[in-house]
Amino acid sequence: MLNVERLLKIDISQKNGRAFRRFLLRWYRQHGRDLPWRQTRDPYAILVSEFMLQQTQVATVLPYYKKWRQRFPNFAALARASETEVLHAWQGLGYYARARNLHATAKRVVDRHLGRFPNSIEQMEQLPGVGKYTAHAVATFAFDQSVPIVEANTSRVLSRLFDLRIPVDSTAGRNALWDYAASRAPKKSPAAYNSALLDLGALVCLPRKPKCGICPVKKFCCATNPESLPIKRPRPETKQLVERHSFIASRDKLLLVQSANRWRGMWILPPTRSTSTRPIHSSHFPFTNHRVTLQIFRQRRSKIDQDCERWFSIQALESIPIPSPHRRAILDLLP
Ligand code: SF4
Repeated sequence: MLNVERLLKIDISQKNGRAFRRFLLRWYRQHGRDLPWRQTRDPYAILVSEFMLQQTQVATVLPYYKKWRQRFPNFAALARASETEVLHAWQGLGYYARARNLHATAKRVVDRHLGRFPNSIEQMEQLPGVGKYTAHAVATFAFDQSVPIVEANTSRVLSRLFDLRIPVDSTAGRNALWDYAASRAPKKSPAAYNSALLDLGALVCLPRKPKCGICPVKKFCCATNPESLPIKRPRPETKQLVERHSFIASRDKLLLVQSANRWRGMWILPPTRSTSTRPIHSSHFPFTNHRVTLQIFRQRRSKIDQDCERWFSIQALESIPIPSPHRRAILDLLP
């Protein structure tokens, strides 16, 4: 049973909090990760990294982040770009709503904030795709504000430090985590402290096998069975979905359609209802709580819908945004 008062009493005495931070920061100075977005205080660079890191691993983000910064070095450059360019640069990272929101945020910053990212959390949260965590992350990493951050890594660490025995994805759990995190946020060097907490989760307080034996804050940890934490609500069952598309090639051209749904703005193989022949390609990909089977059928077409369909030369495919499952299928099928 959660006893927040008891835990807060144990933990947030000023002396305890100071010692906790000292141990954590000493460890961070020796073992913290050297990430490119930590070498800057530019809110644009930090915002880009935070958008990319939502639901994506650091190792996957690194090459994308580097290329993105070269292609769109600031809010003005991103605001000027077309949606096609933005989706093309994001291609492969998935969850394309993040790219569209980042693009919309850049336009808003240029139009309404004269190109300067606001430093108030309240104003940040008005921007497309900027939620509580992202606003707090930019506030601390770009503006060194003494605010807490709670995301996957820090929520795991905090739930164990405080032995939080309610689901962290429930309203009560989320509120408790933000309260815990706020109780520890220091006035001095908040950016380093928050980075240290993130790295503790990424490197030591691991999801399956936490390395408690080498943990720098072990003596402050209340977890009796850390591997059982954090508690999460049961996931919705994975549903199976079959999606059928056609491969329509003519000479050195391929017919694609601009998606208006999941991959809005990107080019995909045209959907089909046909199942009269055997698929020439079949693969699987995950999408939220679905496991999608992608089946491709070879077809011919004399007429095309001029509004959303277009023939592309094979050479042009490299330069247009195509979601990864369809790009993989095309590469598989091209001679
Ligand atoms: Fe995590 Fe173990 Fe450290 Fe507690 S002692 S914070 S469970 S690594």
